[in-house]
Amino acid sequence: MEGELFLLKDAKGRAFLIHLKEGGVFHHHRGTVPHEEIRKAGPGGRVWTHLGEELSVHHPTLEEYLLHMRRSATPTYPKDASAMVTLLDLAPGMRVLEAGTGSGGLTLFLARAVGPTGLVESYEKRPQHLAQAEANVKAFWQVENVRFHLQSLEEAQLERESFHGVALDLMEPWKVLAKATEALKPDRFLVAYLPNITQVLELVQRVEGLPLKLERVLEVAWREWEIRLPVAHPRFQQVGHTAFLVVFRKWKDC
Ligand code: SAM
Repeated sequence: MEGELFLLKDAKGRAFLIHLKEGGVFHHHRGTVPHEEIRKAGPGGRVWTHLGEELSVHHPTLEEYLLHMRRSATPTYPKDASAMVTLLDLAPGMRVLEAGTGSGGLTLFLARAVGPTGLVESYEKRPQHLAQAEANVKAFWQVENVRFHLQSLEEAQLERESFHGVALDLMEPWKVLAKATEALKPDRFLVAYLPNITQVLELVQRVEGLPLKLERVLEVAWREWEIRLPVAHPRFQQVGHTAFLVVFRKWKDC
């Protein structure tokens, strides 16, 4: 039971991520539940706090985990991380290069996409961020297909044309562009996640001289609806802007 991950949801849909502990107790503002009862109820089950609040018990999905895990840096939003997997055209067995690791959110999406026969090489320059990312990834994903590197991507020693994809979520991706492009296989994709359009424009200008073709710039719109009949309309509060996704494809060197 030690360390087992569960997600509890209350009547208002609020979610709580917990790591079960021997003798542990979950504290909700409407009462407490011993961890042992949560374990017994199991995923799909229900528990009640000592004040009668009902909580549903779940195994967290990757999306739920990413939104509720501890963070050192802001993780890539799940709608964007899943779109990046599609834009990178990842499949089991592929090798993907990532920077920066941050809290390990995007790393988990990449690791699941390339599967046990694939590999994610993830670079992070800040030690506290990397430590949190490693803990986050290992708590959710027990497959050993991620290599964590405490290093700026600029300083990494990378084999030429050895990666099927490059995923960048860092402030100044243009600084690592030449290195990442060299490590990318021809006809494959480099995708950057950038919150500001000024960063997008800077990046697009900085590819000059590199064998990269700008294919697409897009945003992922994800609109949630409130359905409590007869109420049925888009939620009044939505996730607004998260980031732009910028997709480059590599030319073959002449
Ligand atoms: N995608 C991550 C996630 O889902 O958790 C979040 C990444 S966070 C926004 C950006 C990270 O990039 C920070 O942790 C920062 O320290 C790291 N970073 C910035 N420049 C870097 C570089 N040149 N090489 C490696 N890591 C870098």
